[in-house]
Amino acid sequence: MNISLDIAPLHSWANISPKQPLIISGPCSAESEEQLYQTCHQLKQKNIVHLYRAGIWKPRTRPNSFEGYGVTALEWLKNVKNELQIPFAIEVASPAHIEQALKYGVDVLWIGARTTVNPFNVQEIADALKGVDVPVLIKNPVNPDLALWIGAIERLYNAGLRKLAVIHRGFSSHLPSKYRNEPMWQIPIELKTIFPNLPIIGDPSHTGGKRALLQEIAQQALDLNYDGLMIESHINPDVALSDASQQVTPDDFYTLLSNLKFRIVKTDNMDSVFINQLDQIRQQIDQADRELLELLKRRMSLVERACEYKIDNNVTIFQVERWNEIFRSRQDWSKKLNLDPEFVTEIYKLIHIESIRQHTEIMMNVK
Ligand code: PEP
Ligand code: MN
Repeated sequence: MNISLDIAPLHSWANISPKQPLIISGPCSAESEEQLYQTCHQLKQKNIVHLYRAGIWKPRTRPNSFEGYGVTALEWLKNVKNELQIPFAIEVASPAHIEQALKYGVDVLWIGARTTVNPFNVQEIADALKGVDVPVLIKNPVNPDLALWIGAIERLYNAGLRKLAVIHRGFSSHLPSKYRNEPMWQIPIELKTIFPNLPIIGDPSHTGGKRALLQEIAQQALDLNYDGLMIESHINPDVALSDASQQVTPDDFYTLLSNLKFRIVKTDNMDSVFINQLDQIRQQIDQADRELLELLKRRMSLVERACEYKIDNNVTIFQVERWNEIFRSRQDWSKKLNLDPEFVTEIYKLIHIESIRQHTEIMMNVK
């Protein structure tokens, strides 16, 4: 599936040049007019941010935590916006939020991860936005469900919104992880193959959950040709009322951005030597894949022979110890080859499933 959405290019509404990544920063939450002003003022002095963010209503896991200052914070935002002449984005989760946001002149809205999971909520938001020409950024749902994310995009698109982009903020996982939310890069990549012209913005702050991870996640996002980054910054991150461990000072944010490598992603204007060399490497990759498939075919033929031999000699087909031994030895071999043993185990799980299928088929044909 490959669908070209009829949407406005990012640069047409974000005030950036066509190939420039959109940089969004600002505090997780607006905590006071002073905090919002100082953070944005310092960011503005560095001249690196195109769109400023601030949380007004905070979706918190437990009640009695800081839930944002609501309309009071919108007053601060309006003042800071007028004073510094900067565009703002905020999170909205209901038609009432949208009404207030638009009343206070918020420039861009985003739908948070806890809202994208709920189609009722997203539909209410889409209905409230019918006929409104405001850009909307759609965060991925908390859980790794691509269809839910696509559903939210479709609901807004069907409501007539054309200034759309998505934000990848990682996914909840029950497995222990160094990330606050697992990036699961394959999900946004799949989304990008379905909607090639839908801009995608990385959110290293909510993916990583800690400052130390921001740089590498931001670089990975750029290397995957993301169209922008949203990173939380705070004048005094250690005392932030929400997400303290992942926010950085405007100075540190500037350093982080300066250390990023903005690689060239399009090959249309590149010199012919580069294109030739890339072509040659790609031909070698094609050849390696052909050999890989031929080897797989050879392996399957051997499995078939072994299976027939077992039947002829009246021995049971499945031997658990043999598979345990296969998993063990292949892990050892992969370590020696400097291949990730987990990756190799995943491949062998698939090979195992195919072997079982092959065995069953042969068994069924035995008279
Ligand atoms: C946020 O951006 O501050 C936020 C609450 O993010 P998410 O919806 O990704 O958790
Ligand atoms: Mn946050």
